[in-house]
Amino acid sequence: MFNFQKEISFLSKHHLIRTLVPIDSGQATTLKQNGKSFLHFSSNNYLGLAGHPTLKSTAIRAVEEWGVGGGASRLVSGNSRLYFELETKIAKFKNTASALVFPSGYAANIGAIGALVQKQDLIFADRLCHASLIDGARLSGATLRVYRHKDTEQLAKLLRQKKKKGQTLIITDGVFSMDGDIAPLAEILRLAEEFDALIYLDDAHATGVLGPNGRGTCDYFALSSPRIIQMGTLSKALGGLGGFIAADRVLIEYLINKARPFIYTTALPPVLLATALAGFELIESDPEIRNRLWRLTSRVRTQINQMGFNTCGSETPIIPILIGPTETALTFSQKLLEEGIYIPAIRPPTVPDGTSRLRISLMATHTDEQIQLLLNSLKHIGKKLRLI
Ligand SMILES: *Cc1c(COP(=O)(O)O)cnc(C)c1O
Repeated sequence: MFNFQKEISFLSKHHLIRTLVPIDSGQATTLKQNGKSFLHFSSNNYLGLAGHPTLKSTAIRAVEEWGVGGGASRLVSGNSRLYFELETKIAKFKNTASALVFPSGYAANIGAIGALVQKQDLIFADRLCHASLIDGARLSGATLRVYRHKDTEQLAKLLRQKKKKGQTLIITDGVFSMDGDIAPLAEILRLAEEFDALIYLDDAHATGVLGPNGRGTCDYFALSSPRIIQMGTLSKALGGLGGFIAADRVLIEYLINKARPFIYTTALPPVLLATALAGFELIESDPEIRNRLWRLTSRVRTQINQMGFNTCGSETPIIPILIGPTETALTFSQKLLEEGIYIPAIRPPTVPDGTSRLRISLMATHTDEQIQLLLNSLKHIGKKLRLI
């Protein structure tokens, strides 16, 4: 017999049970729950575009014109012209010949990786890669080897040892989602060239955020190479929903024909394509939004480090506070909640055992006053719990 209750009891006992709580407001710097309002520091809506007036009015107009649903898969009749416009925009933004939009970042990862490599091939992945990348790797059937986080020396060693014939794919996040640090892309590219590998770069948290023009990790390192397949999402800095791959034309044509999570699913509602397009335009036309995000980032990170917390080498608007024991992380989060600050604890299996943490993410729309309230609470709760 199945015994689901036993597993749930086990999770509860180890403080690992997950529950869904209803949120009564849209994604903004404050969040309503159970009739109370909290300062919100756990959204991936980095640029505040999820509630930006331009995107809202774009959405209303798109709904009037296109209605609400995608209707059918893209290869049948769901491929609205907006897809063409958005994919042209993304390719230009990412400096590639072509791009392909998927229903989500998750679908892009399992779809693209699942199609790019097969059983006879080899995948090397950073240990802290996002779960969706690991799922894609598993789905592909290729042999998966994991290297220590950002450890390109170990990656080189593993590449040197490879005996298998097949293709080699190196998978990494650009900005790591739970640590907020940046992949050593220049070094990984050097290895990819030496060992004739392709790089699958998950820029979910970098797109719209990282680099002088917000174009992502390649922009940050001023790199461009046909060996780098760039993945991104429309659900974080872009404020909506959808994932994408930016690469050369042949690869995109291949994915259209081979990526099952692309083929066998309904097209996105046109309204989401229209808002993503408006989001990219805003990122290009209003760099001040991104600049403010980075000013807040450097202020918050510096002050949290000065308090004596460990921020896991964060370099971006994702700023973790490493706690360690899951129970303590939960207590910290609960105390913050009592002071009106919403930052859920991140626990295994999302992060490795023994590394439970608070994960702060900043938005360009946070006010200076909201930031100060956050810093004050972190400091005195941290002291009360004897963490600093
Ligand atoms: C959020 C995320 C994804 C999945 O993107 P969705 O659009 O939310 O499905 C993939 N990779 C990373 C690193 C992420 O943080």
